[in-house]
Amino acid sequence: MNAKRRMLGPFSVLADDVKLAGFFCGVCKEPVRVAKQHAPTLAARACLFGCGCDVGVVVWEDQSAINRQNWSRVMKQARKANAELIIFNTGETTPPGFGGVN
Ligand SMILES: [Zn+2]
Repeated sequence: MNAKRRMLGPFSVLADDVKLAGFFCGVCKEPVRVAKQHAPTLAARACLFGCGCDVGVVVWEDQSAINRQNWSRVMKQARKANAELIIFNTGETTPPGFGGVN
């Protein structure tokens, strides 16, 4: 039996892992959703945000790089640049196998 999945940016994630982020995208007018992924070696979880714009945004849980104020601006820039994925990072390594959000 396959678990229900949905797209969040370029990734397919388990629908059960996806929560509402609490704000809307000003570009596509859809609610922004977030899936938090545990990285075994790190305390902070990686948060994958997405809306209807088909752009994924990854932020560490303990950072506040993305919020309702800057989301629409980030989406506009990402779409202009044809980006599928934006990662906000503060010099920490992306956990191995992160691409396999499952
Ligand atoms: Zn959007």
